[in-house]
Amino acid sequence: MFSTKDILPLTLKNLGVKRQLAVQTIILHWPDIVGNDISLQSRPTSAKNGVLFVAVKTPVWGHHLSMLKEQLLAKIHDYLGQKLLADIKFYAGNFSNYANSIEDEPKFGVKLRSVTLSNAQCMEVKEIAHAVNDSHLRYRLQRVMVKDKKRRSLLLQEGWHQCLTCSALCPPEEKYCTSCAIDNSRRRREEIRRLLADAPWVGYIETNSCVPCTRTEYMRSKQELIQSLLYKIDPNNPNTIDISTLAMLLFRIMPENVDHENIEKTLRFIRRNRYVFAPRR
Ligand SMILES: [Zn+2]
Repeated sequence: MFSTKDILPLTLKNLGVKRQLAVQTIILHWPDIVGNDISLQSRPTSAKNGVLFVAVKTPVWGHHLSMLKEQLLAKIHDYLGQKLLADIKFYAGNFSNYANSIEDEPKFGVKLRSVTLSNAQCMEVKEIAHAVNDSHLRYRLQRVMVKDKKRRSLLLQEGWHQCLTCSALCPPEEKYCTSCAIDNSRRRREEIRRLLADAPWVGYIETNSCVPCTRTEYMRSKQELIQSLLYKIDPNNPNTIDISTLAMLLFRIMPENVDHENIEKTLRFIRRNRYVFAPRR
């Protein structure tokens, strides 16, 4: 297999083009980079701000691969001959549940072949590919870019639209692409955790009126906060604020209702659960 090491940088003056090429290279050569076993279970879909987004078939694989993240990053950078990525984010789920579902329909390939690109689009592809010296890679890169442009045209025809925050396309019923949706959800959960740390007794409806979120996000944020307190609190020498916060979270009680009995119950909860969950990495 050829390497992109020699071909990538020098002629590419524009960093944006360089990144685009690198991302296309990762997507195109994923099986070569990570090997067959991993590539059958995962698929890189996009990159943003140095973060590569990889769809994985099952949560188990997502977990497994995030343990191998550093090794995967090293493999990718070895392959590219340069460090372009800071992180990889895995999102779990059946491939077909995500942005590619429409592309798994058998007629998608037929439709794709019927799309013709405009002259301007063809020129753009040629300009980017022109910078690549290796003729084999140039050919493959052109094919990937043409396919990507056709795919975008077709998806737009099918009612897909641009994500509200980036240039990726998403289905009519979604506002954001998968990677932005993950980002947004992570930010919302952070906000909810902050809110709950200040007002641990607050339920979903009240939370939702301050930080619009789904019930699942509320539950998950609460669980995350409970777990972090679980590890922070030493049951033999508990910090008063932390233990009261945990009691209020667990029993959904206001500060004035925290009493000796609640605190004792909370301490038992800590002792019982501390070693049950794996520590957060
Ligand atoms: Zn987006």
